[in-house]
Amino acid sequence: MKIFNTLSRRKEEFVPLEEGKVKMYVCGPTVYNFIHIGNARPMIVFDTVRRYFEYRGYEVNYVSNFTDVDDKIIKKANEEGVDAETISRRYIAECKKDMEMMNVRPATTHPQATQEIGGMLEMIETLIESGHAYRAEDGTVYFRTSSFPDYGKLSHKNLEDLQSGFREIKVTGEEGKEDPSDFVLWKPKKEGEPYWESPWCEGRPGWHIECSVMSKKYLGDSIDIHAGGEDLIFPHHENEIAQSESANGKPFATYWMHNAFLNIDNKKMSKSLGNFFTVREISEKYDLQVLRFFMLSAHYRSPLNFSAELMEASKNGLERILTAVERLDDSLAAAPDRAENEEEKKCRAQAEEFVKKFEDAMDDDFNTADAIAAVFELARLSNTAVSGESARSLAAYLRETMEKLCNVLGILTERKKETLDSEIEELIAKRQQARKEKNFALADEIRGKLSEMGIVLEDTREGVKWKRV
Ligand code: AMP
Ligand code: ZN
Repeated sequence: MKIFNTLSRRKEEFVPLEEGKVKMYVCGPTVYNFIHIGNARPMIVFDTVRRYFEYRGYEVNYVSNFTDVDDKIIKKANEEGVDAETISRRYIAECKKDMEMMNVRPATTHPQATQEIGGMLEMIETLIESGHAYRAEDGTVYFRTSSFPDYGKLSHKNLEDLQSGFREIKVTGEEGKEDPSDFVLWKPKKEGEPYWESPWCEGRPGWHIECSVMSKKYLGDSIDIHAGGEDLIFPHHENEIAQSESANGKPFATYWMHNAFLNIDNKKMSKSLGNFFTVREISEKYDLQVLRFFMLSAHYRSPLNFSAELMEASKNGLERILTAVERLDDSLAAAPDRAENEEEKKCRAQAEEFVKKFEDAMDDDFNTADAIAAVFELARLSNTAVSGESARSLAAYLRETMEKLCNVLGILTERKKETLDSEIEELIAKRQQARKEKNFALADEIRGKLSEMGIVLEDTREGVKWKRV
C-alpha cells in the first residue's frame, strides 16, 4: 500500500510500526455549531482509509478528538447565556448523529480537550524543564521554536523565513514572546472564560497541545498516521510535531495525510466565509449516503467543488449500484445449485479482475475515484451476466464481493426504507378504527407492523403516542 506523505511530499510504501496494526489520529472538529460538509470531508475520507486498512487485515486504533474549549465556543456560550460545556455537549451529540447518517463509524476513542487538561499540564511542564518552553511575565507559556531544529519540516518552511515573516506582524498581548514564531501552550484566563489551575497561571490550553497529549495517551509516543484537512499543516500539525518530538524524544507520526478542501464556487467552504451548507441541511434533501458517495468520487488530495449537478450524478451512481445489488439478491433467491459452466467461470474471472482493480486503486494512496469505477464495472457485469438461472455460487460470489467493496467505501447496500410520519399516523388511525369496531385481531396486526418498522405505541389518556426506537 502506498500513501502520499506530506512530510516527504512523496508516495511511500506503508510500513506499520507494529506488524498488523495501524495507529491513527485524525484532528476532529471544534464543536460550536452543526458541522458543515467541508468538515465532513476528512471524516468520510479517513473513515474510508480506516475501513480499507481493516479490509487488508489490519487492526486499526483510530482516535479523533473534539475540540471543546475554544474562543468560538465561549463566544457562542456567552451569546446564549449558557456555559461552554452546554454548547460543546450539544454539538458533540449533533455531530455524532451526522456521523451516523454518513455511515462514519465512531472512532475507537473520541477524547475531548477539557477531559485531558492533566496530561496537558504534564507535557507543558516537561517542555519547560527541557528548555523547549518558557513562561512569560503574564503567565502565558510559549513553545520556543528555536529549540526544535526540525521546525518547519512538515510545511516545508524555513524557520528563519518564518521568523522574519512573523516579525512584520505585531500581535497585542503577545509581547512576552522571545521570538515571533513561538506559539502558545497555555494562556491566562480572561473575564467570563472557563479556566483551570496551573503552575503558571489560572488559564486554559492553547489549541495545539491537546492533540499531542491525546495522541500520546491513547496511541503512544509514536504513531503510524496523523491526518486532517490541509489547512492544518501549518501551524497546527507543525506545532504538534514540535511539541511531541521535543517532549517524547521520538518521531511523532510516520505518515502525515491531508485532504484537500471541499469548495463551493471554487472557494473553500468555511464558517468564516459564510459559504457553507451544514450536513444537517443536506440531509433534508438527500440520503447522506449520497453525500458520502459524492465525497469519495474524487481523490482525497484533489479539491472538490460542491454542486447540485455533482450531487445528482452521485445519487444516480449510487442508485445504479443499489439496483445491481437488488438484482443480485433476486437472482440468488432463484439461482440453481449446480456447478458453474464455462461462461460463468469466465464471468467469475472477470469479476476477480475488477476486485484487483479496486484493490490496486485503493493501494495507490486510496484512490477512491478509481475504486468506485471498478465497483461500477462489477455492477455492469452482474447486470448483464447474472440472472435467476445462473449457478448459485456465482451469484453468491458477486453479491458477497459487492458487499465487501461497498463496505470499504462505507456504502450500505440495503436501501433505507424511509417511513414518513404521515404513513405512521395513517396506520395508527387505522388501528384506532379497528379497535372501535372491536376488530382486535386487525388492531394487533397493525401494532405488529408498526413495531417491525421500529415504531412503539403508547396508549395514554391524551390518545395514542408513538416514537421511533
Ligand atoms: P475545524 O472545526 O475548523 O477545526 O475543522 C475540522 C476539520 O475539518 C479539519 O480537519 C479541517 O481541516 C477540516 N475542514 C474544514 N473546512 C474544510 C473544507 N472546506 N474542506 C475540507 N476540509 C475542511
Ligand atoms: Zn489536531
